[in-house]
Amino acid sequence: MSDNLDLSSVTTIVHDLKTPITSIMGFIELLQKDDHDEEKRQSFYNIIATESARLLKMVNDVLYVSRTSEQKSKENKTENNESCNIGVQIHKYVKELAPLAEKRNINVDINMNAGNIYVSVPESKVARILTNIIENAIKYNRESGKVFIDVSEEGSSVIIRIRDTGVGIASEELDKVFDKFYRSSTSKKMNIDGTGLGLAIAKDIVESYGGEIKVESELGKCTEFMISLPISKFEE
Ligand code: ADP
Repeated sequence: MSDNLDLSSVTTIVHDLKTPITSIMGFIELLQKDDHDEEKRQSFYNIIATESARLLKMVNDVLYVSRTSEQKSKENKTENNESCNIGVQIHKYVKELAPLAEKRNINVDINMNAGNIYVSVPESKVARILTNIIENAIKYNRESGKVFIDVSEEGSSVIIRIRDTGVGIASEELDKVFDKFYRSSTSKKMNIDGTGLGLAIAKDIVESYGGEIKVESELGKCTEFMISLPISKFEE
């Protein structure tokens, strides 16, 4: 990942930040009018919470890609060989994303084909990889679609496969989805929002911990992301 953001990328991002900010301001203004019943007020609070979380994620993504390689490797050194249980983390993020999946009637199925697997990647970094790829599998899915998450052990690595029944990615675009700011023609056409940074960040993290990330897809049918990470500890 290159160390600098160009001006046009920064402009795009700043432009994208306007949507959640405008929405938050609009709903606060509505609440200030104070002529709504409790149910309506709660629904406004929920929208403000969702939009604020979206805003924070966008800001964190931009901060991540604007950090230099030296800053990142310094941070990796201070992490002191932290590790985490991959199965526990997957269940945690699937639970966090359940409201988004329910909204689109999407079923998420987790299949753990192994015991307790620990990877030598800190929880905060695993969170960035998993939330982004699982969220994409929901976001780019069809209504009432399915997401399958399979975890297995292969030698000294854990393999996580995240498969969806969604819009898919055209073969000529497959190589580009890990590029910073890249958004496929389908996602733009369908007006699905995003910054095009999530997969670039996921790849950067996976590779900096000695892992690998790959994608296979059939346009209009399905997509599968395969992540491998080195195992630090394994309990049957
Ligand atoms: P964002 O989702 O914010 O646009 P990402 O970096 O996460 O950014 O993804 C880059 C692009 O790759 C997306 O805009 C989308 O076009 C495509 N993509 C990612 N995941 C999927 C998926 N599961 N199915 C179809 N397309 C996907």
